[in-house]
Parts: sequence; structure tokens; C-alpha cells
Amino acid sequence: MTATCSLFWFRRDLRLSDNPALLAALANNDSVLPLFIIDEEIAERAGAYRRAYLADSLRALDQSLGGKLAVIAGPAVSVLQDVMKRYDITQVHVASEFAPYGVARDLAVTTAGIELQQTGSAYAVSPGRVRKPDGTNYRVYTPFFRSWLTHGWRGPVAPPKSPNFITPKESDRNFPKWQPPAGVDLQEAGEVAALARWRAYKSGGLADYDEARNIPGIAGTSRLSPHLRWGEIHPRTILADLNQSAAHEVFRKEIAWREFYADVLHHYPKTSRGYYAPVYEAMRYDQPGAKFQAWCNGETGYPIVDAGMRQLRAEGWMHNRVRMIVASFLVKDLHLEWQHGANFFMKYLIDNDVASNSHGWQWTAGCGTDASPYYRIFNPVEQGKRFDHDGDYVRHFVPELSHLSGAEIHEPWNFLDGYLHGYPERIVDHATERLESLARLQAIKAAKPEAPKY
Ligand SMILES: Cc1cc2nc3c(=O)[nH]c(=O)nc-3n(C[C@H](O)[C@H](O)[C@H](O)COP(=O)(O)OP(=O)(O)OC[C@H]3O[C@@H](n4cnc5c(N)ncnc54)[C@H](O)[C@@H]3O)c2cc1C
Repeated sequence: MTATCSLFWFRRDLRLSDNPALLAALANNDSVLPLFIIDEEIAERAGAYRRAYLADSLRALDQSLGGKLAVIAGPAVSVLQDVMKRYDITQVHVASEFAPYGVARDLAVTTAGIELQQTGSAYAVSPGRVRKPDGTNYRVYTPFFRSWLTHGWRGPVAPPKSPNFITPKESDRNFPKWQPPAGVDLQEAGEVAALARWRAYKSGGLADYDEARNIPGIAGTSRLSPHLRWGEIHPRTILADLNQSAAHEVFRKEIAWREFYADVLHHYPKTSRGYYAPVYEAMRYDQPGAKFQAWCNGETGYPIVDAGMRQLRAEGWMHNRVRMIVASFLVKDLHLEWQHGANFFMKYLIDNDVASNSHGWQWTAGCGTDASPYYRIFNPVEQGKRFDHDGDYVRHFVPELSHLSGAEIHEPWNFLDGYLHGYPERIVDHATERLESLARLQAIKAAKPEAPKY
């Protein structure tokens, strides 16, 4: 075969190692133009945190590519048409995308007559592949997990050996200069940082993951989520390193949650914004106002909730246990629809992923894939006492409470000096709102839960 010029369109796979789609582009000794397209509309919506992380990640990718990454802003179709003409490109290689935005964008590209050579995806098992014996999709995690394990996945592939990358024109290297807001400390982006983080976690925290993962005051989880979100590491690379120990097993299960939610969203794309269990749409909700603003600002008067929201603003990331607590508080104490919280998360999280976010929210709100027969309402005080026993997490993010001991910090209202440093009083009474939430649930319970309409 004669060598031709191909284009590798980086999207959610900002890495060189374990990237089969990139290897496919480089096959036959083709010369390859590496390209990232900035969709200005999405960038505008993304928020300063995510933009800053992406800018860092693109710089890191460019370094791995020896300064050969083209970065062009504009609508995907016109950018591709223009680049293909100017660089005499005959083939465009990508990894498949499954979330609604990516699917719609790729459809617009192929409808415009540009064929996409698709290899692999951001998942160990691409959404849509794990099926019940009768061919239908899973709606509950545990049987999905078993079937996902049985399905299996390929091992990781090595990075390209001597890739023939085309040097783009300088005018096609428009790297964004986005910076994080002042005082915000984002974790380092890029493939090198991702692999280093995984190596360090593998030889350190991973052995205790099953015990440590619920304690937000310690570095008990991997913080690989931003790297997975941007494809700076592939889940296959991680899964290949796991053994059968209890801690590794729990970690594998968490990776599988990400795959499960992607699968659910693939089958029910409207659940990115709509209710997975439509009966909950009929529930009586309040409109966001001052209490919502207090939640956003980390000023609800519930220490663990406020610590979580402040962590989000400080780091663009929040611990999973606390994500559940703040989400439960928004829906079940403030009686707001989950989408208000999910949108806020999407603006601040550097690991923002529509499948994990919308379904993490819906799971907590009670309208998602949770198989539990009970309507969970997290008690923010009990959660704080249990998972932040010593108060380290709250003390770190809520300095107004740093003078209190672990035994005091989750209930400052019980102590004379609790409000000494200006910590706000509770905006609602949890016990009262819990009953209110149950009453609102009761009102829709007569309606039989149905399967999603989508
Ligand atoms: C309301 C809510 C919103 C969420 N929004 C997002 C989001 O936008 N993006 C996102 O990546 N995760 C989201 N999650 C899931 C989870 O909180 C994060 O993946 C996790 O906190 C990331 O930290 P980590 O990398 O240290 O996780 P670890 O505990 O080290 O887990 C390793 C990896 O497993 C995956 N994982 C772990 N827990 C979950 C989970 N519950 N659901 C799906 N995947 C999981 C992630 O890819 C994670 O990086 C959300 C959870 C909730 C309750």
C-alpha cells in the first residue's frame, strides 16, 4: 500500500500510549497530522476550570508530540474540510464517542461527507456491547458488572514507535491561553501526569482503597477522574494492573461504574437532562433561589456540605462521598430538581463527564439506576460524623470551624463558640426537610414507576 496523509483528530483521548486509534492512523507508515479542534461554543459553556485544565492538557500533549499538535478553533465540519484540503489529507482517524454531544457532532461530520475511521473508545468495553442473554441492555449495575467482566477487554497497546507526524503550520497552532481563576489549584493535566499519578497510587494508596475510599479527609482515592475524562490515561491501562485482592476488586468495580453509566446514557441519551425514572418528573419541587445560592457558595450551615462545595470551587474536584452528600442535600433538603446541581457541577468539575455526572445525580436523587427499594436521604450530620470523624476535611475547607474538635465540628450549633468565627447558621432544618421530602415522595408514589420512555 502507498503511504498517504492522514489526520488524527484528538478529542477525549489526549495521550499517545494505549491509543489504538492513533496506531491505526499511523499504520502503513502514513504521515499523520495530529489535530485538536476547539469548539468555541462548548468552551464558552465549559467554565474557567475546565478550560484551564484543557489548555494544560493540550500543552502537555503537544510536548509528547514534539511540538506537532495543530490546534484550531471553529465548527468541526468546516475545520476538518479546510485542514483536509490544505494538508492533502485522505483519511480522518478517531476513537468513537458515545455521549450525546459527541454523537451529534460526529453525525454532522459524516453527513457532510467526511468519513471517520473509528477505532476503540474511551472505555474498556464500548457502550452498547454488554448485553443480557436476550440482547437487551442492563438497567442495574451488579448484573452489568458481572456481564462486563465476562465480556472482557483487550490489553493495553504500546505507544507508537517512530511516528511520522506532520509539522503543522505555525498559524494552525492556536493554543488557548486559558488560566484557572485566581486562587484555584487544579491538579496537573496531561498523560505524563496521569501515568505518574497512577504509578504512585498503585504502589501506595490502592492497597487500602476499599477502606480509605470513603474518607474525604485523606488522599484515599486515585484522583484519576480528570485524566480519564480527557483520555490522558485509558481504563485498560489501569485494569491491566489490577489483581484479585479486595482493594483492587473494589477499584475495578468503580471503573465499571463509569462504564455502566456510559452504557446507560448510550441507551437512554435523553437521561443526560431528563429523568431516568420519569415518575419523578411529577414530584413537587421548589424553584432555585437564595438557598440554592447558599448551596453553591458552601454556606448552608451544614459543615460537610459546605466543605464539599468549597472543595469544588478550590480544586475543580470533589470527593465521591461528599458529592453524594451535597447532591442529596440539594434534592432532599432543598427540594430542587437534580439538574440544577448537575449543571453547577458541570461548570466546576475538571472531571465533568455527562454520563457519570447526570447518573451520579440521578442515583442520589432517587430517580436513577439505584436498585435499592429504599428512598435514601443522607443525614449530613451523621455522614459528617461517620466519614469525617476527626473533622479534618471540614477543618481544611471551612476555616470558620477550624477551632472545633472532631466531636464538635459537625454540629457547631451545639457549642457556645460554634459561630465564633462567622460560620453561617443552618438554612434549613434537616429533620423537618426529611419529612417534607418523604411527603412529596408519597404524593407521586401512587403513580407506578415506569421504565424510561426514551
Ligand atoms: C452527584 C455525582 C456527580 C458525579 N459526577 C462525576 C463526573 O462528572 N465525572 C466523573 O468522572 N465522576 C463523577 N462522579 C463519580 C465519582 O464521584 C468520581 O468519579 C470520583 O469521585 C472521582 O475521584 P477519583 O478519581 O479519586 O475516584 P476513585 O475512587 O479513585 O475511582 C477510580 C475511577 O473510577 C471511576 N468512578 C469512581 N466512582 C465512580 C462513580 N460513582 N461513578 C462513576 N465512575 C466512578 C472514576 O472514573 C474514577 O476516576 C459523580 C458522582 C456523584 C455522586
